[in-house]
Amino acid sequence: MILINARTTLSLLALVSSLLFLSPVLANDGTIAFVGATIIDGTDAAPLPNATLVITDGRVRTVGPRSAVTIPAGAEVVDVSGKFIMPGLINAHGHVGATVGLDGNGGYTTGNLLRQLGLYARYGITAINSLGGDEEAGFALRNAQYTADLNRARIYVAGSVVVGDSEQAIRDEVNRNADMGANFIKVRIDDNLGATQKMPRNLFDALVDQAHIRRLPVAVHLFYLDDAKYMLESDADLIAHSVRDLPVDQEFVDLVKAKNVCYIPTLTREVSTFVYESVPDFFSDPYFLKEVEPAILEELQTPERMSRMAASRSAQGYKAALQVAMANVGVLNDAQVPIAMGTDTGPPARFQGYFEHMEIHMMVDAGMTPLEAIRASTGVAADCIGMGDIGTLEPGKWGDFSLLTANPAADILNTKTIESVYIAGNEVPGS
Ligand SMILES: [Zn+2]
Repeated sequence: MILINARTTLSLLALVSSLLFLSPVLANDGTIAFVGATIIDGTDAAPLPNATLVITDGRVRTVGPRSAVTIPAGAEVVDVSGKFIMPGLINAHGHVGATVGLDGNGGYTTGNLLRQLGLYARYGITAINSLGGDEEAGFALRNAQYTADLNRARIYVAGSVVVGDSEQAIRDEVNRNADMGANFIKVRIDDNLGATQKMPRNLFDALVDQAHIRRLPVAVHLFYLDDAKYMLESDADLIAHSVRDLPVDQEFVDLVKAKNVCYIPTLTREVSTFVYESVPDFFSDPYFLKEVEPAILEELQTPERMSRMAASRSAQGYKAALQVAMANVGVLNDAQVPIAMGTDTGPPARFQGYFEHMEIHMMVDAGMTPLEAIRASTGVAADCIGMGDIGTLEPGKWGDFSLLTANPAADILNTKTIESVYIAGNEVPGS
């Protein structure tokens, strides 16, 4: 009875509203206004103090000086005076996959993927370009995220990392990923410090050709300067790791700019290869400890494990490579090459969420200004992965952003003062 009465009342109200043209009140349902913060919008614009951000149905409706923005009638208003807003951070190279604890094959399940997307989100990483190892469940989550109800990080997928011992096998695998709906095609041209065989260049060329036939960009795992030049000449689309064997030279700088290709440093990927030879400083950082399982910390600090890493030739090789990578980020940033934040997190001991903050801090250590590093993690990253609906706080984009208590543009370490995270205007649980 009550239900019928409520329904009757509602339809009467709707009828009266439409008759009296009161519908604007209903149209403002789902609007939330954040008032008084300094807004870093992810574009080239300077941070805007005392600003207002209005989100309607999950997307940015208006952003501007508080004095210039009219808050729609009926909007929920949140006073965030004295705080800072920046767009959700985008990891242009991560992995959302099968890792559980320190087991890289713990389980590729929807539940495990959602756990990781929640973890990223609580750290303010609101989109992850998962570059390889993606299966049906990852594609399904990607397909399900274009909704104003979303409150976990967005995912984009590449499918399998393409391998094959013939041109036909390579083309078939590219087609299989494309048929599933991949956002990227991922390939490795690397020999893992001499330990494995590189993909032959004729097969690499076939891969790029087939990906482009399917209108998909190619993201390349590489290590060597020579391979980086080769992939640029082959018209591949995204450099997914730092050049780490040699300092980048003018020929490379000219080529990467001429081809308009983005560069993803993944500095923390290098860190993860050697840092557990001793107890890392971040093991005492509350911002790290708030999410890590104590059993993982314990396991990483077992003496056998630490001495094995200290004695590892590859660990020491990548430690040296990190110094080359850091210097290259500085040179490429000075040359105005588009640099996108990416970490290669997801595999064991590459901590999703926390490492993205470490990556941004290292990008500043490498020579970027805090605002450049934030741009590289927001607007530039979105451009680099071809996602036009995220990355900046401009009208029409998804309302993905973080609220901080201290200014990350003044000190990049303040990215760790994220107090709450919003995705499509919804507060991320536990953030
Ligand atoms: Zn990767």
